[in-house]
Amino acid sequence: MRKKIVAGNWKMNGTQEEGQKLTSEIVNMVKDERISDVTVVLNPPFVHASNVKKLIGGVDNIFLGGQNCSDKASGAYTGETSASILASFGATYVIIGHSERREYFAESNEQLTEKVKLALENGLTPIFCCGEPLEIREAGTHEAYVKDQLTESLFGLSEEDFAKIVIAYEPIWAIGTGKTASSDQAQEMHAAIRAHLASKYGEKIAEGTSILYGGSCKPDNAPEIFSKPDVDGGLIGGASLKSRDFVDIIKSF
Ligand code: PEP
Repeated sequence: MRKKIVAGNWKMNGTQEEGQKLTSEIVNMVKDERISDVTVVLNPPFVHASNVKKLIGGVDNIFLGGQNCSDKASGAYTGETSASILASFGATYVIIGHSERREYFAESNEQLTEKVKLALENGLTPIFCCGEPLEIREAGTHEAYVKDQLTESLFGLSEEDFAKIVIAYEPIWAIGTGKTASSDQAQEMHAAIRAHLASKYGEKIAEGTSILYGGSCKPDNAPEIFSKPDVDGGLIGGASLKSRDFVDIIKSF
C-alpha cells in the first residue's frame, strides 16, 4: 500500500510564536484525534526548524521538512541552506521544485536534479513538485508538459533512488487562487504521471510512489480529491496555516 501523506507548506509565513502555536495545535489534535495512518509533514521557514522538531518529538507520524534546499553541498552561497544542514536539524523531507521557486527564483530542471541528488545523499525524502501554468492547460498540452518536467529532473535517477521520491502535482493555476482542479482532473493527471513513471521505472516502483495533489486544497474539497485512486494525499499551502483546517484535511482520506 502506498503511503498517505499530507504536507503543509507554510511558505514565508509565521513569527516564532505563531509557528510554535500552530505546531503545538497540530500535534495535540493529531494525538487527541488518534490520527496514525497518515504521514504528516510540516515544512516551515528554515529558522523554525529547531522549534518545530522539538514540538513534534514523540509523535511517530509527524515529520519536519524544508521548503527548498540548495543545489550546492556547502560553501560560500550566502542565504542558502543545504540539504545536509536541513538533515542535521532533524528534517526528513524537503520540497523541491515548487512552482514559486521555479518562477521567482528561476530554478531550472538541471538545478532541481542537483537538489534531488543532494537531498537523497543526505537522507531526505524529496517532495518533487510538477504542474502546468494556465496557458498550457488551456492549450491542452499539460500532460506532455508535466511529463517533461519529470523526465528532465528525475529520470537520471537509479531505480533505488527513484523509489524514495514523493511527487506533488500542483497545477499552477490552482495554487493560492481558490480555483481547485476538479477531482477528475486531478485523477486524470495523477494516473498519467503514474503511467509515465511506470514507463521508465516499471509498474512496481510506479505503484509504490505517493503522488500528492496541491492547489487550493481545503477541508471541503479534500475528501473528494483524496478519494481518487491515484491521489495519495496533498501538499497544502494556505490551509496549512490554520490548525483545524489542516488537521481536517489530514482526516479527509
Ligand atoms: C502550494 O503552494 O503548494 C499550495 C498548494 O498552495 P495553496 O494550498 O495555498 O493553493
